[in-house]
Amino acid sequence: LNAHNARHMWHPMGHPGALQEKPPRVIKSADGSTITDLNGHSVVDGVGGLWCVNVGYSCQPIKDAIAAQVQELPYYSAFAGTTNAPAIELSYELREMFASDGMGRAFFTSGGSDAVETALRLARQYHKVRGDHGRTKFLSLKKGYHGTHFGGASVNGNNRFRINYEPLLPGCFHLPSPYPYRNPFGETDPARLAQLCAAAMVDEIEFQGADTIAAFIMEPIQGAGGVIVPHESFMGLMREICSRYGILMIADEVITGFGRTGDWSGSRHWGVQPDMMTMAKGITSGYFPFGACMVSDAVAEVFEQGDATDASIFHGYTYSAHPVGAAAALACIRESQRMAINENAAPRGTQLFEGLKALKDKHEMIGDVRGGHGLMAAVELVSDRDTKAPAAPETLTAVFNTAYEAGAMVRIGGNNLLMSPPLVITEQEITIILSALDEGLS
Ligand code: PMP
Repeated sequence: LNAHNARHMWHPMGHPGALQEKPPRVIKSADGSTITDLNGHSVVDGVGGLWCVNVGYSCQPIKDAIAAQVQELPYYSAFAGTTNAPAIELSYELREMFASDGMGRAFFTSGGSDAVETALRLARQYHKVRGDHGRTKFLSLKKGYHGTHFGGASVNGNNRFRINYEPLLPGCFHLPSPYPYRNPFGETDPARLAQLCAAAMVDEIEFQGADTIAAFIMEPIQGAGGVIVPHESFMGLMREICSRYGILMIADEVITGFGRTGDWSGSRHWGVQPDMMTMAKGITSGYFPFGACMVSDAVAEVFEQGDATDASIFHGYTYSAHPVGAAAALACIRESQRMAINENAAPRGTQLFEGLKALKDKHEMIGDVRGGHGLMAAVELVSDRDTKAPAAPETLTAVFNTAYEAGAMVRIGGNNLLMSPPLVITEQEITIILSALDEGLS
């Protein structure tokens, strides 16, 4: 396996200078919050697969639901004139779960990038159906991550994910992120920074012309960009600006949904109802590739009332509303609610955040620690605290590898170590992550 892995499997991020082991480690099995590699080495999974395995790896009801659905109906298209029972049932469950976020209808996809692409396309179409043909541009935030399709890559706020694939979608503008540690305003007070970012958004809208902008997309807490937690006022300010200028607000909840932040959505923390939400990852906890773009009833109604041709949605995937994915999502949501995994995310997230802050006191190379809203955390490594110069990639690799040997998987993102363990993680397992990191940093 190791030989074939090196030779035949094309690994993303596998370029020379890639940070992690080459070829990547083979993960063979998993149980609870622990993963085991081909060499039999077991570690606590500090990244939940990839911000997604919320219920952990041993959720028997999801495994059973998948097996039963494969027996009954392994696949049928829900794209062109047919649908299936689990998908219908799931749309009802999601409506209930996200009613307080203002969400009404669900359009199902096979993952997060598809969900973002769906939101962007439907946002443009929404304006066209209303006769507002000039609204085609998109706004997003620097440091944001919205997937790898051309639309998502175009609104991504990290150049690394864009540069090799240009030219991307024209008319996408990236606004300052509310990132107190590094921001163009040099502002460290989060509330004041939120206001400055909001003012920058208004400037850009006025400059572009409000009637040219279709939508604004943001993560309630930026994940892959380094777990950037905005001031509590920030998303509300953005909501207010979007409403004022007739711009649709898309909350990208691919990471923050389904309990990761300690509640079922990230938007809820900030008391905001977006017009659209994108979801994936925790919707099935990774047991099956699946995603959704939910919209408010007000958005959906525009499509229903519009001219028949304009309002037809020529968008969908072979695997939209895949019955096995829908069955996995239904079981995952029920188990997540039964176990109240969001309630565990909050205290365990606090434990992780406090533990990381204690590591900052001990290790000079930690420049910033972020988290505190459920189980999403980051430590930003620097070579000099005063200049904030990012730590060398080799330093991050060394910390990563030592932490792995010491019993915890973390993730490297730029000069950050990112953490998003399963939401069922125990107090003792968080302690293992912290001590493994301590060893790596030492
Ligand atoms: N949006 C966000 C906020 C994400 O974090 C991700 C994946 N990390 C995506 C979209 C893309 O999802 P996927 O990888 O499932 O296509």
